[in-house]
Amino acid sequence: MSNAKVKRAPVVAIMGHVDHGKSTLLDFIRKTNIVDGEAGGITQHLSAYEVHHKDDEGNDRTLTFLDTPGHEAFTKMRTRGAKVADIAVLIVSAEDGVKQQTKEAYETIMEANVPFVVAINKIDKAGANIEQAKISLSEIGVYVEGFGGSIPVVPISAKQGTNIDDLLSTILLVADLEEFNGNPNLPAEGIVIETNTDPKSGISATLIIKDGSVKRGQFIVAGNAMCPTRMLEDFTGKAIQEASFSSPVRITGWSSQPPVGELFQTFENKKEAEKAATGAANLSCDLIDSLSIANFETKLIPLIIKTDVAGTFEAVEKEICKLQKEEVAYKLISRGVGDISEADINFAQADKDVIIIGFNVAIDKNAVDLNMQVNATIETFDIIYKLSEWLESEMEKRRPRKMVAEIHGSLKVLKVFSRTKDKQVIGGEVLEGIIALGDTVKVMRRENEIDSGPIKELQQNKVATKQVKEGQCGLMVETKTEISEGDILEAFTMKEK
Ligand code: GDP
Repeated sequence: MSNAKVKRAPVVAIMGHVDHGKSTLLDFIRKTNIVDGEAGGITQHLSAYEVHHKDDEGNDRTLTFLDTPGHEAFTKMRTRGAKVADIAVLIVSAEDGVKQQTKEAYETIMEANVPFVVAINKIDKAGANIEQAKISLSEIGVYVEGFGGSIPVVPISAKQGTNIDDLLSTILLVADLEEFNGNPNLPAEGIVIETNTDPKSGISATLIIKDGSVKRGQFIVAGNAMCPTRMLEDFTGKAIQEASFSSPVRITGWSSQPPVGELFQTFENKKEAEKAATGAANLSCDLIDSLSIANFETKLIPLIIKTDVAGTFEAVEKEICKLQKEEVAYKLISRGVGDISEADINFAQADKDVIIIGFNVAIDKNAVDLNMQVNATIETFDIIYKLSEWLESEMEKRRPRKMVAEIHGSLKVLKVFSRTKDKQVIGGEVLEGIIALGDTVKVMRRENEIDSGPIKELQQNKVATKQVKEGQCGLMVETKTEISEGDILEAFTMKEK
């Protein structure tokens, strides 16, 4: 029965207005519902934790709570297909009712399309008015049970712990209706919810497993970042051998900082992982891969692409593939779904030439701020041909310039008058074009170039002149090789092309 799906614990995010009691509720649940042995060891901030609760039927159940600052991963996932939270708790103070951030939290929940439960908090307070809180909720379109709607509502006191059991049971009821499943035999996948860099131990990340299992000795890839699962810990910081869905795990030893909100995947061996890690950032028309035009002189422009959905990336990629040239080409270094974020700017920081483009996405305010220092070239588009045009013009700007000889006249040598060191005074006749003072001439003998050098002096009819268009003229040329009668001098200037 290796393909059998089994029920998994719901991943829960608590959202609501500041001061309405999110932290107090999370603290209370953490203190009362984490198994004693586990709780003792916890001193550090947890970005997610697992709690135990007996449901209405007396079964021991597990729930995972997210406690990431500002639920960054929760909001980031809005534009992603995957969801870190399965269920949200919208917490509203019974004293204040709905406030600005209650509305925003509700909008986020709607956009993410996750089921939610309302917790009306602070019911122990003298000024608490549960009915009034429900009215204010209905004003923003949240109709709770017994109040014209079907959204489960639990009045609680996070501070005193009133009805928290009820709240947890209600969350589990919602979870059971939704049927959150997973297959423990699959390689783990899920979402990065927090990252940390420690000068000693390196980069670590907290991940929420949404399906499958991870074991020690495997490899995890998130975007371009990769990590062997050598240092695998549960949420309490205890070293573990394996973990399965809905569990938060921390792994240390990443090659680079995986972006928060990024999806991760698990691989059995390093080779597969590496392929997935770089494969995540390759254009299907990458010049590196295409031997026919691969040229080590190709100027590669590092590119980060962010799109609204994965499907749009393919459209963008197709356009870029049309632009690739032998002398200059785009090299994808990172791609992702969602707004251009601080993580993208951080990634761009490694290379001053990076271009970040967004298609159908915006630029985070934090990313804008950070880019004040980094100065990466960022542009967003919502029309594909505009994107294409812009990329083409950037390519043109960054294309390596070649110096090309532009020939604009030739002359046949009739006589060599004198020669001192490398200076030769000669007379000749213009065959075509213009011979000008300051030009360089190629000395051609039987169609082979034997030397070249600048025209230092130019005379026609014994009068110094700047250029000669036809007829005979005298000139002093600087070359190492002796010029002879019958040689052809081709006059040129170097032009940047
Ligand atoms: P957050 O900003 O949503 O995380 O809110 P906090 O959890 O920090 O709570 C803000 C304030 O409200 C704190 O002073 C809490 O002690 C208080 N508070 C939270 N829940 C309750 C409650 O159920 N009853 C009472 N009386 N105070 C509460």
